[in-house]
This record gives sequence, C-alpha cells and structure tokens, in this order.
Amino acid sequence: MTQQAVKAKVRGLHRNGASLMNTGRDLGKTRLPLWAAGFVMLTCFAILGLSGWREWETRNAELRTAEIDVTNLAQSLIQHADDTFELVDTILVGLVHRLELDGTGPDTIAKLQTYLPTRKSSDRIRGIFVYDETGRWLATTEQIDFSKFNNSDREYFQRHRDSPDPGTLIGRPVKSRAGGQWIITASRRVNHPDGSFAGVALLTIDVSYFVKFYERFDLGPHSSASLLNNDGIMLARSHDESGAFVGRDLSNAPLFKQWKSRPAAAVYYFKSPLDNVQRLSYYQRSSRYPLMVLASKSQDDVLAPWRRAASARMTVVVGLVLLIAAIGFYLVRQLLQRQRMAQALIAKEAHFRLLAEQSSDMVTRIGLDNRLIYVSPSCARIIGWSSDELLGTSAVAGVHAEDMERVEQAIAALKNGEAEEARFVYRQRHRDKGEIWAESALHVTRASDSGEIDGVVAVVRDMTEQKDLQNKLASLAATDGLTGLANRRAFDERLADEWARARRDGTQLSLLLIDVDHFKAFNDHYGHLAGDGCLRALGRILSAHPRRPADFAARYGGEEFAVLLPNTDADGCARVGEEIRGALRDLAMLHAQNPPSRLVTASVGGATAFPSETTTDSSALVAAADRALYAAKDSGRDRLVMSGQVVPWPARSA
Ligand code: GH3
Ligand code: MG
Ligand code: MG
Repeated sequence: MTQQAVKAKVRGLHRNGASLMNTGRDLGKTRLPLWAAGFVMLTCFAILGLSGWREWETRNAELRTAEIDVTNLAQSLIQHADDTFELVDTILVGLVHRLELDGTGPDTIAKLQTYLPTRKSSDRIRGIFVYDETGRWLATTEQIDFSKFNNSDREYFQRHRDSPDPGTLIGRPVKSRAGGQWIITASRRVNHPDGSFAGVALLTIDVSYFVKFYERFDLGPHSSASLLNNDGIMLARSHDESGAFVGRDLSNAPLFKQWKSRPAAAVYYFKSPLDNVQRLSYYQRSSRYPLMVLASKSQDDVLAPWRRAASARMTVVVGLVLLIAAIGFYLVRQLLQRQRMAQALIAKEAHFRLLAEQSSDMVTRIGLDNRLIYVSPSCARIIGWSSDELLGTSAVAGVHAEDMERVEQAIAALKNGEAEEARFVYRQRHRDKGEIWAESALHVTRASDSGEIDGVVAVVRDMTEQKDLQNKLASLAATDGLTGLANRRAFDERLADEWARARRDGTQLSLLLIDVDHFKAFNDHYGHLAGDGCLRALGRILSAHPRRPADFAARYGGEEFAVLLPNTDADGCARVGEEIRGALRDLAMLHAQNPPSRLVTASVGGATAFPSETTTDSSALVAAADRALYAAKDSGRDRLVMSGQVVPWPARSA
C-alpha cells in the first residue's frame, strides 16, 4: 500500500469513528428531561393558576353578596326617606293651601299657632315655621319668642322668593336658629291670591333623626348610609352624631358629575372623598323627591375574611407547588444524570465497537452455549463468512478436527473459571481458501452486576503467513544448503524418533554411512567447486534412491552421508547400500587420484539394530555403521561392509 493510500484509509477510519460517536451521542440524548421539566412547570402553573382563579371567583362572590346587602339597605332607606318626606310634604301642602286660602292676617296666624303643634305629632318633625314675604317669622311650633328672627338670609327663602316653582324644596341642612342643632329643611312657597310671593312654609327634620335611624342597620365598622339631595349635598350620614359631614357639597364627586347619564339606582364602586376608604355601594334616587340614598361598605372589610382564608389556602397551595417543583427538579436532575451516564456508556460502547470493528483481527463474543453473540466485520476477510452469517452459529464450527478437542477444552476451562485467558494456534476452515492457520486469544467476560462468567471474548488472527514462514524456517534449519538433503541436526532428531518408534513397534532399524573416497585429493586436483558439484550429484542419488516413504537421507558432515532405513533388515540395508554405491560409480565422474577405477566412488558402512532388545541407544547404531565404513575404507574402498559385530544380532531373525 502506498503512503497516500494508508493516509486515506486512516482518514476514512477517523470519519467512520466520528460518525459512530455522533450517532451514539444523538442516541443517548432524548428530550425526556425537557418534557419532564415542562410538565412539572405546567403542573405548578396550572395549580397556581386554578387556585388563583378560584380565589378570584370567591372574592367576586363575596363582593356580589356585599352588593346585595347594600342594595337591600339602600332600598329600605330610600323607602324610609320617601315615607318621611311624604309626611312632610303632606303637612306642607296642607299648610300652604290654608295660608293661600285664608291669607296671613293676624287671625289666621293666631289660629295657625294653635293648629301647628297638632301637626307635629310625629317625632320625625322637628318644627314647622311660616315666614312672611320679608322673612319675618309668622308662626312656629317652637316655644320661643321669635319676634326678632328673620330668615330672609336663608337660601331656601331666597330660592322660593325668586322662583315661582310651587314644589317642595329640600334645601341644604342648616343649624337651627331655634335649637342650634343640624336640621334638614323642606319648604314651599306661599303665594298671594295674585300669585305674588307671600312667604314660605317650612318644615324641619333633625339630622340626628336620620342618623339614629341609620345606626339601626349595622353593616360593618366602615359601612355607611347617607342621605343626599340631588345637588350632592349631604343631608345625613350614619355614625355622624357630631355633624361633621352634614352639609358637605359632594357635587364635584364623580357620581354627581355624570348624574344625568346614570341610572336611577346602581351598584357603584368609589373611593370616598370623606374618609378616603375604597367602598362598594348602592345608590338609589327617590322617584318622588329630589333625594338619593347611598349605602356603602368598605371593600377592605368585605374582603377581609376572604383575604384571611385565601391567604391560608394559598399558603398551602404554594407549599404544595414548591414541593412538586422540588420533587420535579430532583427527578429532572436524575433524568439528566442518567442521560449523561447513558451517553457516556454509548460513547464508550461506540469506542470499543470502533476498536473491534476496525481491528484487522476478528473479535468475537462467545456465549455460555458456545454460540457467537458478536462477530466483528473482519471475519469476512479472515474466514470468508460475513458476521451476519456467523452470528448465532457455533464458535468452534470450522475448527480442524485434529485441533477441535484442544480448542473445546480451552473454552471449557475458561467458562469453568479454571483460567482467565488462553491462547492457542489451530487450523480453521476458510470459505474460499480451504484452510488457514489461526491464533486465538481468549479471555473470559463477566456480568457487570453479578460478576458471574457470562462468556468469552476471542480475538482471532490469521496466522497462515507466519505459519508458512515458520515452516520454511524450520525446513531451512533442517536442510543442508548444498545438497538439499536433511542436515545433521535433522538427522539426529529423525534418528532419535525412528529409534524410539522401532523400539515401540519392535521393528529393526538400519543405517548406511556413505563416504566419498579420496575426496580431499579430488578437491585438491579438481578444485573445491568441482568437489561441491560432486557432492550435489551424490545428494541427488540419495534423495532419489530410497524407496519407502519413511527412508531418510541426510548429509552427515563434509563428504559423509547417512541413510536411515526404518523397518529394514540387514539384507535390505545392504541392498540399498549397494545400489547407492553402484549409482555413484555409474555416474562415472572422473577422479584421477582414486585408483584403480579413477572414477568417483564411495565406501559404505551399514548397520542394523533391534532397538527393543538392546539397552544401548541410537549412538551404538551410528558407531557400528561408522566402524563398518572404516572397515570398507580399510579393505580397499568402493565397497559396502555391513556391521555384524558391534550391534548384537537378533538370533531369532537369523
Ligand atoms: P578417504 O578416502 O579416506 O575418505 O579420503 P578423504 O580425502 O576423502 O578423507 P578426508 O576425510 O581426509 O577428506 C575429506 C575432505 O572432504 C576434506 C575436505 O576438503 C573435503 N570436503 C569436506 N566437505 C566438503 C565440501 O563441502 N565441499 C568440498 N568441495 N569439499 C569438502
Ligand atoms: Mg571423510
Ligand atoms: Mg572420504
């Protein structure tokens, strides 16, 4: 792979990783805490809103009840005022009628003076007065000397004098000249027969009469009942024994300013200019007289019980809402914490998934039933099947039959808790390549809550290349470079193996040692390279010659070779030795220094042993063959000598 390609791949991995993490973050993040917070807030506001609304309704109901109270009161009082002034009016009308008929001569007045007290039968009427056109007193019910009194300064007198209106005038309250107390005046003009002004008939009522009457209706400490005339002049007011409010001109108050446009009776909310108290009231105008009654209650007094009860109720409600808010806050915080934990877990999971999925090794999770719970995508490359195909299948499927037991034992040991991890190399079936060598590193996994073993994680790596290399190295280490035959080390190992096998099986083992004759001289004469060529030629003969698969030829050292012939008796051994010797001679390589043939020849020493019946080890066989070889050299070279003395010959095979 070029450097650029590697960089591109790394970039791709980073990108995949980032998107994986992003997906993780998005997955973990829900709007649940937001919804929960919204719900808690909605609940709190709903409870507060509903309670507030209910309290507002209760407040308004209290005001409605109070309105009914003041309405009833005002209606009673206007009835009372009407009755009172009707009585007054009846007396006045009679009096004026009489004066206009009889005139104001001394006889009439004298008669009047006796008649008047009979009219003052009701306690409502304070006094009855008659004035002439100059304001001088003509007659009265008061027991005083009035000869010097003149009432032409009074407003009612001037109004009657200046206006021909024959109706009853209810004037401003005045301080009585007779008694000094506050009185309400009702007066009528008296005409001469020609219609000119003849004087005034006046009737007075004590303000205190109304005040006392109004006190019978107690609507609360700040309640009030007032009697006013249509000009906005206060005639009487409850709780006003001292007369502080009597005669006040309220014509500038809003109620009187829009007097014309207002209904004759209505509920009316206002701030009293007299005591600055916010009031709810009902006013009612008289249908017969220029009067009105205003009954009012202090709004604060009306609402005080409601305020007390409502504040107690709202305290409970607010406490409840605070409790809900606190619990809600706690729950939302828990949700947020859980969400953060979940996000962290997902990110961690994504991280490990990334590691597993991007790993060139195949990462698998094996359940307790030996089935694959997870397989990373690299399985497609390593064993040729996709992870979808492998999921749920047996973890040991495809393991070579010879390795199966080992693999199963290792997994079982992990699951039983006998080991925490294991590592082994085995052969595994590949979908397309047939068979691969795999190395598996296994580690137990435990359930996070109970700590019990819940499976095994296996990281599988394709070892085929390494295994091939290993095999190559092993064969290189066992091969002689010049001839391609096995080297001395391999020969020693094979000899030990074959010796042990022959001993186990009770078979014979034969050995041939072959040594080129006068090879030093060959080298000296033809050169070392030619010597090498000669050795290679002998090597080819040896590797071609042995017939049985178990026969094993090796370069024993220098120009000496060995052939191991398992399960071969002395005759067989001698036959093979002779064939080899003959084959070399048949090559007919020139060797001037090797008389008498002057060709390249070799001497062969052979030995056969029955390992099961000897106590000696394999070196005895080599020594015997070596001695036989020397015997061959000594007896003239280019021949085979079999050893018969060194290794005891088994009697029964003879
Ligand atoms: P003999 O007939 O008694 O065996 O005589 P010889 O000369 O063969 O005996 P010796 O063991 O004295 O000589 C062995 C020679 O083989 C010595 C060495 O030069 C030669 N030789 C050993 N290994 C090699 C090799 O790999 N290549 C070559 N060209 N010569 C080798
Ligand atoms: Mg030699
Ligand atoms: Mg030699």
